[in-house]
Amino acid sequence: MSLTATYDAQNIFAQIIRGDAPCYKLYEDDDVLAFLDLFPQSFGHTLVIPKRSAACNILDVDSEALCKVIGVVQQLTRAIVAELEPDGVQVAQFNGAPAGQTVFHLHMHIVPRYTGQGLGVHAAQKADPAELEQLQARLLRRIAASRG
Ligand code: 5GP
Repeated sequence: MSLTATYDAQNIFAQIIRGDAPCYKLYEDDDVLAFLDLFPQSFGHTLVIPKRSAACNILDVDSEALCKVIGVVQQLTRAIVAELEPDGVQVAQFNGAPAGQTVFHLHMHIVPRYTGQGLGVHAAQKADPAELEQLQARLLRRIAASRG
């Protein structure tokens, strides 16, 4: 998909926003939704997306929506680091298929990194649903605690 492709309202993240497809939700407000990656590259891999912006990538998202997304990325990164205690954390965002983008609704990745553990293959191996459920419960508790 090119950088200038038209937004497809049937993409999987648009379906998740509409409630037409499920997700392991970690956070939602009027503008932003965050959920666990179904094909995680590391334990705790999380995605953060704008809800109101029909933007494929960083070139076409409005800056207000982008600011709201990055604010939630920071909050969730803090909670994920506090709960999972990784040794590092990557925050990433890809634009266009040649750059590694596979879902064409703007999103940011939070990818915890653990010393000695390589990164899983991108969007390749589906996680165990029971593991995702447990992880979701852990992170939801931590997020709730961090919000006081
Ligand atoms: P991209 O490759 O576009 O930067 O990232 C898309 C991400 O979405 C990948 O990490 C992939 O594993 C994830 N993904 C693809 N389909 C689904 C899905 O149906 N549900 C969730 N939660 N994540 C998905």
